[in-house]
Amino acid sequence: MITALRGTHDILPGEVEKWQHVERIARQLCERYGYVEVRTPVIEREELFSKGTGETTDIVQKEMYSFEDKGGDRVTLRPEATPSLVRAFIEHNLEHTLPSAKLYMMGPMFRYERPQKGRYRQFHQLDVEVFALSDPAIDAEVIDLAWRLIEALGIKQTELVINSVGCKECRPKFHEALLAALGDDLPKLCGDCQRRAKTNPLRIYDCKVPADQPIIDALPHSIDYLCEPCKTHFTAVQAHLTSWEIPWRISHRLVRGLDYYVRTTFEILGETLGAQNALLGGGRYDGLVKQLGGPDRPGIGFAAGLERLVLALPEDTTLATTPRAFVVAIGDDGRAEAIKLVRELRRAGLAAQMEYDARGVKAQMKRADRVQARVTLIVGGDELARGEVTLRDMSNGEQRGVVRAAVVDEVRKLMS
Ligand code: AMP
Repeated sequence: MITALRGTHDILPGEVEKWQHVERIARQLCERYGYVEVRTPVIEREELFSKGTGETTDIVQKEMYSFEDKGGDRVTLRPEATPSLVRAFIEHNLEHTLPSAKLYMMGPMFRYERPQKGRYRQFHQLDVEVFALSDPAIDAEVIDLAWRLIEALGIKQTELVINSVGCKECRPKFHEALLAALGDDLPKLCGDCQRRAKTNPLRIYDCKVPADQPIIDALPHSIDYLCEPCKTHFTAVQAHLTSWEIPWRISHRLVRGLDYYVRTTFEILGETLGAQNALLGGGRYDGLVKQLGGPDRPGIGFAAGLERLVLALPEDTTLATTPRAFVVAIGDDGRAEAIKLVRELRRAGLAAQMEYDARGVKAQMKRADRVQARVTLIVGGDELARGEVTLRDMSNGEQRGVVRAAVVDEVRKLMS
């Protein structure tokens, strides 16, 4: 038997309805907040991520699905969407062709991680990005959209955490302070942290090694080293959130696992999820567009893991179902008429099906039950002779004859 790869999964009926629900709500909200959809390729040049996501990140160092294609190009299955959207923004000059560069995207991402509940190698994200706006109100609006998404999905027991990681002006001072505070403790940290101390000390906060945590917890906080503009920005973001009654907590450890973040970072955590508890995360990335060869434009966005949103959906979520009609045929004449009727119903915009394999009436009725038909129509010799079809309302079992010409309208009434 050939099975799906470790860390990848099929989304089957029973589960897929939840996905459709999450995707529908995400789409509605994005449109409501003025975002337009963009779809980028799943495969990109490797350098887009090594430059964009950042050489010192775990994603680039350990997790990318990169290979040489048959033409000798180094390519990567995208591990995240932001660099792809930045590339598309630059490549298609979207700041001039779109009324505003507020973009969203949904699709699969690939990271070679150790799979566990809520963590997969192929997973899916909703990604939301805004380019060319630097006002703190837009940071707050993006956080508001994220918060609203979680609320609209009915996900309870969540927490919004925010932080500011400063900018290229104030970050060096913070790095210095971090290294000074580490002092003699640095050799006690894990190998990854030793490397991070040299390449990008902020990344030490990403460390998950239990023995390192007491040392890291005692390190200085980025918000104490912000320059005046970063401080003003962060204060304004918080003021917006307060005025909109969105509750949050500052987390000093929230530096996010990517290199490009400046100023605002945020995450929404779901308490019911276990170890992989981040439902979504994002932040501001003002230098990234320029770094990837575009104009010097700011950016901010977030990515939500669709698997985690589906996992966190409340049990009692009402999922949309399409009411369907099932047509039961008796005898050859009935069958010919049933085929006609099914097609007629579908062309009238209604969901209808029948059993094509010749089977007894009982078996067909059973099938109508299994597909949870809202209405069953029975077409047989007797009915045809009377110019009628028998209509059975499956919600109460009531049965009556309906004139053939009126069937579509009667079914529509019951299924609407
Ligand atoms: P990131 O792109 O790492 O900032 O992650 C943003 C969101 O994507 C996280 O909060 C998760 O919900 C989701 N996510 C990230 N990595 C994975 C993964 N390996 N499996 C499932 N979801 C993930």
